[in-house]
Amino acid sequence: MSRGPSIAILGAGMGGLTAAAALLRQGYDVHVYEQARQFVRLGAGIQMSPNAMRVLRGLGLEQHIRSTAFQPTYWANREWDSGEMKFELTLGAKAEEQYGAPYLLMHRGDLHASLASLVPDDRLSLNKRLVSFEQDDSGVRLQFEDGTSAKADAMIAADGIHSGVRTSMLGPEQPKYSGRVAYRTTFPASLLGGKPIGECTKWWGVDRHIVIYYVTAQKDEVYFVTSNPESDWTRESWSLKGNLDELRAAFVGFHDEVQNVLNACPEVHKWAIVERDPLPRWTDGKVVLLGDACHPMTPYMAQGAATSMEDAIVLSRCIEAEPDIARAFQVYERARKSRTSEIQMTSHQNTWMRQRTDPNWVYGYDAWSAPLE
Ligand SMILES: Cc1cc2nc3c(=O)[nH]c(=O)nc-3n(C[C@H](O)[C@H](O)[C@H](O)COP(=O)(O)OP(=O)(O)OC[C@H]3O[C@@H](n4cnc5c(N)ncnc54)[C@H](O)[C@@H]3O)c2cc1C
Repeated sequence: MSRGPSIAILGAGMGGLTAAAALLRQGYDVHVYEQARQFVRLGAGIQMSPNAMRVLRGLGLEQHIRSTAFQPTYWANREWDSGEMKFELTLGAKAEEQYGAPYLLMHRGDLHASLASLVPDDRLSLNKRLVSFEQDDSGVRLQFEDGTSAKADAMIAADGIHSGVRTSMLGPEQPKYSGRVAYRTTFPASLLGGKPIGECTKWWGVDRHIVIYYVTAQKDEVYFVTSNPESDWTRESWSLKGNLDELRAAFVGFHDEVQNVLNACPEVHKWAIVERDPLPRWTDGKVVLLGDACHPMTPYMAQGAATSMEDAIVLSRCIEAEPDIARAFQVYERARKSRTSEIQMTSHQNTWMRQRTDPNWVYGYDAWSAPLE
């Protein structure tokens, strides 16, 4: 039998699913509401640094993830044209020993499916788009677009960068367009025609960059993601296609290894890079924000999903430790805000790994044991 309080989780992204998995393990009465009609395996890679892998280890997913993901032995940072090495971060077994968990590269869809496997079907409702909510002493009522509603003692809003719950809490404010777009795609490594790519490389140009890595243990699938200036593109969607000629033109003059990858890729998606400054607060009574809903960031440190997953574990620990849920939410906000704000600001600067960087303050964090107060 589930224990109280009952908790509604809005959004089945990395943050919402991790929160659901952690709270279900603790025996709470949890239900996830997601607007999508189905989960789609999007063409994107994701880096799971040791701080994120520690979250997955605690949820029992490490072995499965290891069997599908690629473990690079280094992260290379190279000059865009000459290929000269600017800084090489050692990964592989050595980094695993140092940080206590591996650094893995994988398909975003594989990670999402692994987390979703921890949430039973009867705890997740798809096609439930929240249009409004209200809270009173008895709890939170969620109203969905299809006319149905749900009631819970509290709500965790993991509804992403355009969070409607954030808007209700703090007023309307569009996320800031960074003036840059990301082209990204995954494709079969066989299309490279045997030409080599590094295991994981960020190619640093003057005003743009591209990150290229394998996303499977067999190294049979390649991913890249760019960041390049574009003044007036603000459409942000995981499914919008980009123009291959425009992409290739944006990276003319880059090293041959980059050209080979761009020439081989059959299609690409295009995404506006948006962010927010740290928010003044994340909680309102029995409602709390989590992940991109409260600290969206540029992808330059590969920490957006990782910090959402950390949030989820710390929040589940706060709920366990503090019987008053509104107070538990406040403890969570205090425990998490300085770390996520620092990562947001560092990521904004896009200097991570450009020169010798000590990533220990990010990778060494353990959400399962970090102090709550
Ligand atoms: C190009 C790029 C590369 C990235 N690479 C990495 C990386 O390598 N490593 C990393 O850690 N992070 C990376 N990130 C960041 C990462 O993708 C996000 O930070 C992460 O997905 C945030 O998770 P979330 O659960 O908070 O939000 P989301 O994943 O956005 O999930 C929000 C969910 O809420 C649902 N939702 C929204 N509104 C409603 C509503 N009204 N009703 C019901 N459901 C709703 C949405 O459909 C969605 O499923 C990258 C991001 C980008 C753009």
